[in-house]
Amino acid sequence: MKLILASRNKKKIREVEAILANHFPGIHILSLDDVGYVGDIEENGETYEENALTKAHTAVEAGKGIYPAIADDSGLSVDALNGAPGVYSARYAGGHGDDAANNALLLKNLAQVSAEERTARFVCCIALVYPDGREITVRGETEGLIIDEARGEGGFGYDPYFYYEPFGKTFSEMTAEEKNAISHRGKAIAKVAEILKQ
Ligand code: IMP
Repeated sequence: MKLILASRNKKKIREVEAILANHFPGIHILSLDDVGYVGDIEENGETYEENALTKAHTAVEAGKGIYPAIADDSGLSVDALNGAPGVYSARYAGGHGDDAANNALLLKNLAQVSAEERTARFVCCIALVYPDGREITVRGETEGLIIDEARGEGGFGYDPYFYYEPFGKTFSEMTAEEKNAISHRGKAIAKVAEILKQ
């Protein structure tokens, strides 16, 4: 089976391919580069679903309508901040993907919020679009608490401050396998695998 993943991040592509290969041995994930797409896809939707669908439709078109495509959009939603940073997670502090600035702003905005009230969840939406235009979206969510001191070296983004109570670890303190087993992205990919099997 061949499927486009609307990304050019090689780590993400190999990670998704490895998880889906458990369900579909020999699956081949094509990147945007593989199908000759050179532009940047705008992510200006108001929901994760909107952004993921835009990316997946663009990827199907880039592949000349031959392959289905999947695309993900994810972020962190903090209850005490009315769901922020949400769809703006990558550019919460202004610049795109400035993890240090994003985390500093998050902690500043939570300065007056008690430890118990710092409930949050990572959300991942994956859109699956077929060449005939059919579209499906799935969501994976993982609950945690935002802590004040960074813990761990792994992961990226908000991981060092996202404490997952059942493991007693932040996402940064987990191995890739531990994180994939319980993460928002891992759960969403598992749902996509179920749909692809049907
Ligand atoms: P993307 O849609 O997967 O590119 O994620 C958008 C932003 O959400 C990232 O730049 C991170 O700030 C945040 N984010 C999404 N997933 C994670 C995660 O697993 N750990 C930490 N931060 C994440």
